[in-house]
Amino acid sequence: MNIYADRGNLLMLRMRCQWRGIGFQLIESGIGEELRPGKHDLIYLGGGQDRDQLLCAEDLVGVKGQAMAGAAEQGTLILGVCGGYQLLGASYELGPAQSIPGLGLLDVRTVRDPGPRLIGNVAIEVDLGEGPKVLAGFENHGGRTRLGAAQAPLGRVLKGHGNDGASGFEGARSGNVIGTYLHGPLLPKNAWFADWVIATALRIEPSELTPLDDELERQAHQSALRAAGL
Ligand code: GLN
Repeated sequence: MNIYADRGNLLMLRMRCQWRGIGFQLIESGIGEELRPGKHDLIYLGGGQDRDQLLCAEDLVGVKGQAMAGAAEQGTLILGVCGGYQLLGASYELGPAQSIPGLGLLDVRTVRDPGPRLIGNVAIEVDLGEGPKVLAGFENHGGRTRLGAAQAPLGRVLKGHGNDGASGFEGARSGNVIGTYLHGPLLPKNAWFADWVIATALRIEPSELTPLDDELERQAHQSALRAAGL
């Protein structure tokens, strides 16, 4: 799936790799195409409308499911945004009679609720091992995601709705598998996180990456924080 500036996220990764002389190859995986665990440094699942999720969930679980589980097991970084996040979980219930199965790589369940969509600018505090940092983005989802008892969130909501508009949690993280509702796009608004993604995918520390001139990216981050009310 690919909606809400997911391409911007991929472009951000491509450029930050290229600027540093790190090779970058993007391989799209469509319906019916198998994945090979161990072949990729990062697997990115974009967002989508319910209709698109219905179309690709069966393929994701049936055709790619085993390879996705293998990749997760091998420590490949897997990042799901919005609809992709929902499908990393156990299920997405669209209604009493319709439930989309997910990959089950995160212990989360999403339920479509008759309430309003959770839309707006959002900021969350996360700690990915470098101390607390802020991610800013935009969310737009009808699904409410609830974490299993032992499932860690990605972060804590500072502004916005987060997973379900009530828990104060945003996203989910189990080691190298990460899901978040933040898009809009996520990575250009949070260059520090883009670098964390690149470094983690390459299994090095972010501090090992060559620093870049991030003045414009810093301004984009500040602007996204202001939009969220921080
Ligand atoms: N279709 C999902 C929802 O509305 C995800 C939307 C998205 O990816 N932005 O909850």
